[in-house]
Amino acid sequence: MSKIPVGVLGATGAVGQRFVQLLADHPWFEVVELAASDRSAGKPYREACTWRLATLLPETCAARVVKGCDDRFEARLLFSGLDSSVAGQIESALAARGHAVVSNSRNHRMDADVPLLIPEVNPEHLDALAVQRKRTGGGYIVTNPNCSVVGLAMALAPLQRAFGLQEVAVATLQALSGAGYPGVASMDISDNVIPYIGGGEEEKIEAEPLKILGGFSGGAFHPAPFTISSSVHRVAVSDGHTMAVFARMKLKCAPAQAVEALAEFRGEPQQRRLPTAPQRPIHVLPQADRPQPRLDRDREGGMAVSVGRVRGDRAFDLRFEALVHNTIRGAAGAAILNAELLKARELLP
Ligand code: NAP
Repeated sequence: MSKIPVGVLGATGAVGQRFVQLLADHPWFEVVELAASDRSAGKPYREACTWRLATLLPETCAARVVKGCDDRFEARLLFSGLDSSVAGQIESALAARGHAVVSNSRNHRMDADVPLLIPEVNPEHLDALAVQRKRTGGGYIVTNPNCSVVGLAMALAPLQRAFGLQEVAVATLQALSGAGYPGVASMDISDNVIPYIGGGEEEKIEAEPLKILGGFSGGAFHPAPFTISSSVHRVAVSDGHTMAVFARMKLKCAPAQAVEALAEFRGEPQQRRLPTAPQRPIHVLPQADRPQPRLDRDREGGMAVSVGRVRGDRAFDLRFEALVHNTIRGAAGAAILNAELLKARELLP
Protein backbone atom coordinates (compact mmCIF):
# COMPACT_ATOMS: atom_id res chain seq x y z
CA MET A 1 0.00 0.00 0.00
CA SER A 2 1.44 3.42 -0.89
CA LYS A 3 1.38 5.83 2.01
CA ILE A 4 -1.02 8.78 2.29
CA PRO A 5 0.84 12.10 1.85
CA VAL A 6 0.35 14.49 4.77
CA GLY A 7 1.42 17.99 5.72
CA VAL A 8 2.25 19.45 9.14
CA LEU A 9 1.26 23.06 9.90
CA GLY A 10 3.18 24.71 12.73
CA ALA A 11 5.87 22.09 12.13
CA THR A 12 8.57 24.09 13.91
CA GLY A 13 6.76 24.28 17.29
CA ALA A 14 6.69 21.93 20.29
CA VAL A 15 3.65 20.03 18.96
CA GLY A 16 4.78 20.28 15.33
CA GLN A 17 8.07 18.59 16.19
CA ARG A 18 6.18 15.77 17.90
CA PHE A 19 4.16 15.32 14.70
CA VAL A 20 7.35 15.08 12.65
CA GLN A 21 8.86 12.61 15.13
CA LEU A 22 5.75 10.39 15.44
CA LEU A 23 5.04 10.39 11.69
CA ALA A 24 8.63 9.51 10.70
CA ASP A 25 7.94 5.76 10.58
CA HIS A 26 4.17 5.76 10.35
CA PRO A 27 2.77 2.78 8.43
CA TRP A 28 -0.03 4.76 6.69
CA PHE A 29 1.11 8.41 6.52
CA GLU A 30 4.15 10.10 5.01
CA VAL A 31 5.11 13.73 5.66
CA VAL A 32 5.54 15.54 2.35
CA GLU A 33 4.99 19.15 3.43
CA LEU A 34 6.01 21.22 6.45
CA ALA A 35 4.68 24.73 7.08
CA ALA A 36 5.10 27.46 9.68
CA SER A 37 5.20 31.26 9.86
CA ASP A 38 6.96 33.68 7.50
CA ARG A 39 9.89 33.58 9.94
CA SER A 40 10.51 29.96 8.92
CA ALA A 41 9.17 29.78 5.36
CA GLY A 42 11.84 29.26 2.71
CA LYS A 43 14.36 27.71 5.14
CA PRO A 44 15.26 24.03 5.35
CA TYR A 45 13.40 22.49 8.31
CA ARG A 46 16.63 21.78 10.24
CA GLU A 47 17.48 25.49 10.17
CA ALA A 48 13.95 26.75 10.80
CA CYS A 49 13.36 24.82 14.02
CA THR A 50 15.21 24.31 17.28
CA TRP A 51 14.77 20.53 17.56
CA ARG A 52 13.89 19.85 21.22
CA LEU A 53 13.31 16.10 21.29
CA ALA A 54 15.64 13.38 22.53
CA THR A 55 15.56 11.58 19.16
CA LEU A 56 17.33 12.68 15.99
CA LEU A 57 15.46 14.95 13.58
CA PRO A 58 14.20 12.53 10.90
CA GLU A 59 16.45 12.68 7.81
CA THR A 60 13.43 12.67 5.50
CA CYS A 61 12.33 16.05 6.88
CA ALA A 62 15.64 17.73 7.77
CA ALA A 63 16.31 19.23 4.33
CA ARG A 64 12.68 19.83 3.36
CA VAL A 65 12.01 23.53 2.74
CA VAL A 66 9.36 24.94 5.06
CA LYS A 67 6.32 26.47 3.35
CA GLY A 68 4.13 29.35 4.44
CA CYS A 69 0.58 28.54 5.57
CA ASP A 70 -0.96 30.58 2.72
CA ASP A 71 0.76 28.35 0.14
CA ARG A 72 -1.03 25.61 -1.80
CA PHE A 73 -0.74 22.13 -0.29
CA GLU A 74 -0.52 18.91 -2.26
CA ALA A 75 -1.48 16.73 0.73
CA ARG A 76 -5.23 16.41 1.36
CA LEU A 77 -4.62 15.56 5.02
CA LEU A 78 -3.01 18.32 7.11
CA PHE A 79 -2.07 18.08 10.78
CA SER A 80 -2.10 21.40 12.62
CA GLY A 81 0.06 22.44 15.57
CA LEU A 82 -0.40 26.11 14.77
CA ASP A 83 -0.28 28.83 17.37
CA SER A 84 -3.84 29.64 18.38
CA SER A 85 -3.42 33.31 17.41
CA VAL A 86 -3.46 32.20 13.75
CA ALA A 87 -4.88 28.66 13.70
CA GLY A 88 -8.54 29.64 13.49
CA GLN A 89 -8.38 31.48 10.20
CA ILE A 90 -5.74 29.30 8.52
CA GLU A 91 -7.53 26.04 9.36
CA SER A 92 -10.90 27.38 8.14
CA ALA A 93 -9.34 28.51 4.86
CA LEU A 94 -7.74 25.10 4.28
CA ALA A 95 -10.97 23.22 5.08
CA ALA A 96 -12.74 25.50 2.58
CA ARG A 97 -10.13 24.42 0.02
CA GLY A 98 -11.08 20.77 0.54
CA HIS A 99 -8.43 19.64 3.03
CA ALA A 100 -9.02 17.47 6.07
CA VAL A 101 -7.45 19.50 8.88
CA VAL A 102 -6.73 17.47 11.99
CA SER A 103 -5.95 20.10 14.58
CA ASN A 104 -4.56 20.51 18.08
CA SER A 105 -5.42 24.14 18.42
CA ARG A 106 -8.24 25.39 20.59
CA ASN A 107 -9.87 27.69 18.03
CA HIS A 108 -12.47 25.34 16.51
CA ARG A 109 -12.87 22.81 19.32
CA MET A 110 -16.23 24.10 20.51
CA ASP A 111 -17.68 24.89 17.05
CA ALA A 112 -21.19 23.56 16.54
CA ASP A 113 -20.26 21.12 13.75
CA VAL A 114 -16.63 20.28 14.62
CA PRO A 115 -15.92 16.98 16.39
CA LEU A 116 -13.78 17.28 19.54
CA LEU A 117 -12.59 13.75 19.25
CA ILE A 118 -11.05 11.11 21.49
CA PRO A 119 -11.44 7.95 19.39
CA GLU A 120 -11.89 5.66 22.41
CA VAL A 121 -14.55 7.92 23.94
CA ASN A 122 -16.76 9.62 21.35
CA PRO A 123 -16.19 8.23 17.82
CA GLU A 124 -19.91 8.76 17.13
CA HIS A 125 -19.20 12.53 17.12
CA LEU A 126 -17.72 12.02 13.64
CA ASP A 127 -21.35 12.10 12.47
CA ALA A 128 -20.99 15.89 12.76
CA LEU A 129 -18.72 15.84 9.72
CA ALA A 130 -21.73 15.35 7.44
CA VAL A 131 -23.14 18.64 8.76
CA GLN A 132 -19.78 20.41 8.55
CA ARG A 133 -19.03 19.22 5.02
CA LYS A 134 -22.33 20.66 3.78
CA ARG A 135 -21.10 24.03 5.08
CA THR A 136 -17.56 23.83 3.70
CA GLY A 137 -18.29 21.97 0.49
CA GLY A 138 -16.07 18.95 1.25
CA GLY A 139 -13.12 19.72 3.49
CA TYR A 140 -13.40 19.66 7.26
CA ILE A 141 -11.74 20.25 10.63
CA VAL A 142 -11.48 17.62 13.36
CA THR A 143 -9.93 18.67 16.67
CA ASN A 144 -8.41 16.93 19.65
CA PRO A 145 -8.91 18.29 23.15
CA ASN A 146 -6.66 20.42 25.34
CA CYS A 147 -3.68 18.42 26.63
CA SER A 148 -5.04 18.03 30.18
CA VAL A 149 -8.55 17.35 28.97
CA VAL A 150 -7.50 14.27 26.97
CA GLY A 151 -6.30 12.57 30.18
CA LEU A 152 -9.22 13.83 32.24
CA ALA A 153 -11.95 12.88 29.76
CA MET A 154 -10.43 9.44 29.14
CA ALA A 155 -10.40 8.72 32.88
CA LEU A 156 -13.92 10.09 33.37
CA ALA A 157 -15.49 8.24 30.41
CA PRO A 158 -15.66 4.75 31.97
CA LEU A 159 -16.79 6.21 35.30
CA GLN A 160 -19.54 8.20 33.63
CA ARG A 161 -20.75 5.13 31.74
CA ALA A 162 -20.77 2.86 34.80
CA PHE A 163 -21.86 5.21 37.58
CA GLY A 164 -22.86 8.60 36.11
CA LEU A 165 -21.06 11.79 37.08
CA GLN A 166 -22.56 14.64 39.10
CA GLU A 167 -19.64 16.93 39.89
CA VAL A 168 -15.92 16.83 39.20
CA ALA A 169 -13.08 18.94 40.65
CA VAL A 170 -9.56 18.77 39.28
CA ALA A 171 -6.23 20.38 40.15
CA THR A 172 -3.58 20.08 37.42
CA LEU A 173 0.24 20.11 37.59
CA GLN A 174 1.22 20.90 34.01
CA ALA A 175 4.54 20.38 32.29
CA LEU A 176 6.74 23.03 30.68
CA SER A 177 6.38 21.68 27.12
CA GLY A 178 2.69 22.55 27.36
CA ALA A 179 3.67 26.21 26.97
CA GLY A 180 5.44 25.58 23.65
CA TYR A 181 9.01 26.64 22.91
CA PRO A 182 10.74 28.54 24.53
CA GLY A 183 7.85 28.61 27.00
CA VAL A 184 8.13 29.89 30.58
CA ALA A 185 11.37 31.73 31.45
CA SER A 186 13.71 29.51 33.49
CA MET A 187 14.05 32.23 36.16
CA ASP A 188 10.28 32.13 36.66
CA ILE A 189 9.83 28.37 36.97
CA SER A 190 13.02 27.12 38.69
CA ASP A 191 12.33 26.32 42.36
CA ASN A 192 8.74 27.37 41.78
CA VAL A 193 5.11 26.51 40.99
CA ILE A 194 2.98 29.01 39.06
CA PRO A 195 -0.75 28.76 39.89
CA TYR A 196 -1.90 30.20 36.58
CA ILE A 197 -1.80 29.18 32.90
CA GLY A 198 -2.93 31.70 30.31
CA GLY A 199 -5.10 31.14 27.28
CA GLY A 200 -8.22 30.23 29.26
CA GLU A 201 -6.79 26.92 30.50
CA GLU A 202 -9.25 26.49 33.37
CA GLU A 203 -12.22 27.37 31.16
CA LYS A 204 -11.13 24.76 28.58
CA ILE A 205 -10.80 22.08 31.25
CA GLU A 206 -14.27 22.92 32.53
CA ALA A 207 -15.99 23.01 29.11
CA GLU A 208 -14.32 20.56 26.73
CA PRO A 209 -15.00 17.31 28.64
CA LEU A 210 -18.72 18.10 28.66
CA LYS A 211 -18.77 18.27 24.84
CA ILE A 212 -16.69 15.08 24.58
CA LEU A 213 -18.77 13.11 27.10
CA GLY A 214 -22.04 14.43 25.71
CA GLY A 215 -23.94 13.19 22.67
CA PHE A 216 -24.43 14.12 19.04
CA SER A 217 -27.94 13.73 17.65
CA GLY A 218 -30.34 15.65 15.44
CA GLY A 219 -27.38 17.46 13.86
CA ALA A 220 -26.20 19.00 17.16
CA PHE A 221 -23.95 18.32 20.14
CA HIS A 222 -25.58 17.94 23.56
CA PRO A 223 -23.16 18.54 26.47
CA ALA A 224 -23.00 16.06 29.34
CA PRO A 225 -25.08 17.32 32.30
CA PHE A 226 -22.51 17.64 35.09
CA THR A 227 -20.15 20.38 36.27
CA ILE A 228 -16.35 20.55 36.41
CA SER A 229 -14.32 22.90 38.55
CA SER A 230 -10.59 23.25 37.86
CA SER A 231 -7.44 24.86 39.21
CA VAL A 232 -4.25 24.77 37.11
CA HIS A 233 -0.52 25.00 37.92
CA ARG A 234 2.66 25.12 35.83
CA VAL A 235 5.41 22.97 37.36
CA ALA A 236 9.07 22.32 36.50
CA VAL A 237 8.47 19.00 34.70
CA SER A 238 9.52 18.68 31.05
CA ASP A 239 6.64 16.49 29.76
CA GLY A 240 3.54 14.98 31.38
CA HIS A 241 0.53 16.65 32.99
CA THR A 242 -0.55 15.25 36.37
CA MET A 243 -4.07 15.77 37.71
CA ALA A 244 -5.68 15.26 41.12
CA VAL A 245 -9.31 14.42 40.33
CA PHE A 246 -12.30 14.37 42.69
CA ALA A 247 -15.65 13.01 41.48
CA ARG A 248 -19.19 12.84 42.88
CA MET A 249 -21.12 10.01 41.25
CA LYS A 250 -24.83 9.39 40.65
CA LEU A 251 -24.61 5.73 41.66
CA LYS A 252 -22.70 4.24 44.56
CA CYS A 253 -19.16 3.45 43.46
CA ALA A 254 -16.60 1.63 45.59
CA PRO A 255 -12.95 2.35 44.66
CA ALA A 256 -12.49 -1.28 43.55
CA GLN A 257 -15.43 -0.93 41.13
CA ALA A 258 -13.92 2.27 39.73
CA VAL A 259 -10.56 0.52 39.25
CA GLU A 260 -12.30 -2.28 37.36
CA ALA A 261 -14.17 0.15 35.07
CA LEU A 262 -10.98 2.12 34.35
CA ALA A 263 -8.78 -0.93 33.70
CA GLU A 264 -11.32 -2.60 31.41
CA PHE A 265 -11.95 0.49 29.31
CA ARG A 266 -11.41 -0.12 25.56
CA GLY A 267 -12.76 1.56 22.43
CA GLU A 268 -12.88 1.56 18.65
CA PRO A 269 -9.10 2.16 18.18
CA GLN A 270 -8.40 -1.05 20.10
CA GLN A 271 -11.07 -3.02 18.19
CA ARG A 272 -9.72 -1.77 14.86
CA ARG A 273 -6.07 -2.12 16.00
CA LEU A 274 -5.20 1.37 14.76
CA PRO A 275 -1.41 1.77 14.49
CA THR A 276 -1.08 4.47 17.18
CA ALA A 277 -3.70 3.02 19.57
CA PRO A 278 -2.46 1.84 22.96
CA GLN A 279 -3.49 -1.71 23.79
CA ARG A 280 -4.90 -0.45 27.08
CA PRO A 281 -6.00 3.22 27.00
CA ILE A 282 -5.90 3.44 30.81
CA HIS A 283 -3.33 1.75 33.02
CA VAL A 284 -4.30 1.61 36.68
CA LEU A 285 -1.12 1.53 38.75
CA PRO A 286 -1.19 -0.27 42.10
CA GLN A 287 1.77 1.53 43.74
CA ALA A 288 0.96 4.11 46.44
CA ASP A 289 3.25 6.77 44.92
CA ARG A 290 2.30 6.60 41.23
CA PRO A 291 1.72 7.85 38.58
CA GLN A 292 4.78 10.08 38.29
CA PRO A 293 5.62 12.01 35.08
CA ARG A 294 9.21 10.83 34.69
CA LEU A 295 8.34 7.18 35.32
CA ASP A 296 4.95 6.82 33.67
CA ARG A 297 4.46 9.35 30.85
CA ASP A 298 5.95 7.11 28.12
CA ARG A 299 3.70 4.13 28.82
CA GLU A 300 2.60 2.62 25.47
CA GLY A 301 4.61 5.20 23.53
CA GLY A 302 3.01 8.06 25.49
CA MET A 303 -0.49 7.10 24.26
CA ALA A 304 -1.86 5.52 27.48
CA VAL A 305 -3.22 7.49 30.43
CA SER A 306 -1.89 6.35 33.81
CA VAL A 307 -4.22 6.41 36.80
CA GLY A 308 -3.32 5.71 40.42
CA ARG A 309 -4.32 6.21 44.04
CA VAL A 310 -7.98 5.44 43.32
CA ARG A 311 -9.64 5.88 46.68
CA GLY A 312 -12.81 7.00 48.44
CA ASP A 313 -13.34 10.64 49.36
CA ARG A 314 -15.29 12.17 52.23
CA ALA A 315 -16.42 15.33 50.43
CA PHE A 316 -16.81 13.69 47.01
CA ASP A 317 -17.23 9.95 46.40
CA LEU A 318 -13.98 9.15 44.64
CA ARG A 319 -10.53 10.66 44.12
CA PHE A 320 -7.57 9.60 42.01
CA GLU A 321 -4.47 10.84 40.21
CA ALA A 322 -4.18 10.78 36.42
CA LEU A 323 -1.18 11.43 34.16
CA VAL A 324 -1.12 12.15 30.43
CA HIS A 325 1.84 12.81 28.13
CA ASN A 326 0.84 16.29 27.01
CA THR A 327 2.59 16.47 23.62
CA ILE A 328 1.87 12.84 22.64
CA ARG A 329 -1.55 11.63 23.92
CA GLY A 330 -2.41 15.26 24.73
CA ALA A 331 -1.50 16.66 21.30
CA ALA A 332 0.32 15.17 18.28
CA GLY A 333 -0.35 11.49 19.11
CA ALA A 334 -4.01 12.31 19.74
CA ALA A 335 -4.33 13.98 16.34
CA ILE A 336 -2.58 11.10 14.58
CA LEU A 337 -4.97 8.62 16.22
CA ASN A 338 -7.87 10.84 15.08
CA ALA A 339 -6.55 10.70 11.51
CA GLU A 340 -6.17 6.93 11.71
CA LEU A 341 -9.82 6.62 12.72
CA LEU A 342 -10.81 8.92 9.82
CA LYS A 343 -8.88 6.68 7.43
CA ALA A 344 -10.31 3.47 8.92
CA ARG A 345 -13.84 4.88 8.55
CA GLU A 346 -13.05 6.00 4.96
CA LEU A 347 -13.67 9.65 5.80
CA LEU A 348 -10.47 11.12 4.37
CA PRO A 349 -10.97 13.29 1.26
P1 NAP B 1 4.77 26.66 19.70
O1 NAP B 1 5.89 25.79 20.12
O2 NAP B 1 4.78 28.09 20.08
O3 NAP B 1 4.63 26.54 18.07
C1 NAP B 1 3.74 27.36 17.34
C2 NAP B 1 3.82 27.07 15.86
O4 NAP B 1 2.94 27.98 15.18
C3 NAP B 1 5.21 27.26 15.25
O5 NAP B 1 5.43 26.31 14.25
C4 NAP B 1 5.11 28.65 14.63
O6 NAP B 1 5.98 28.84 13.52
C5 NAP B 1 3.68 28.64 14.15
N1 NAP B 1 3.20 30.01 13.95
C6 NAP B 1 3.24 31.05 14.82
N2 NAP B 1 2.74 32.18 14.23
C7 NAP B 1 2.40 31.84 12.97
C8 NAP B 1 1.85 32.54 11.86
N3 NAP B 1 1.56 33.87 11.94
N4 NAP B 1 1.60 31.88 10.72
C9 NAP B 1 1.90 30.55 10.60
N5 NAP B 1 2.45 29.82 11.61
C10 NAP B 1 2.68 30.46 12.78
O7 NAP B 1 3.35 26.10 20.23
P2 NAP B 1 2.93 24.59 20.63
O8 NAP B 1 3.11 24.35 22.07
O9 NAP B 1 3.54 23.65 19.64
O10 NAP B 1 1.36 24.65 20.41
C11 NAP B 1 0.77 24.65 19.12
C12 NAP B 1 -0.74 24.57 19.25
O11 NAP B 1 -1.11 23.34 19.87
C13 NAP B 1 -1.31 25.68 20.12
O12 NAP B 1 -2.55 26.09 19.56
C14 NAP B 1 -1.48 25.02 21.47
O13 NAP B 1 -2.48 25.62 22.24
C15 NAP B 1 -1.85 23.60 21.06
N6 NAP B 1 -1.50 22.55 22.02
C16 NAP B 1 -0.26 22.49 22.61
C17 NAP B 1 0.03 21.44 23.48
C18 NAP B 1 1.36 21.31 24.17
O14 NAP B 1 1.50 20.43 25.04
N7 NAP B 1 2.38 22.08 23.80
C19 NAP B 1 -0.93 20.47 23.75
C20 NAP B 1 -2.17 20.55 23.12
C21 NAP B 1 -2.44 21.59 22.27
P3 NAP B 1 7.40 29.65 13.64
O15 NAP B 1 8.37 28.71 14.31
O16 NAP B 1 7.75 29.90 12.21
O17 NAP B 1 7.14 30.87 14.45
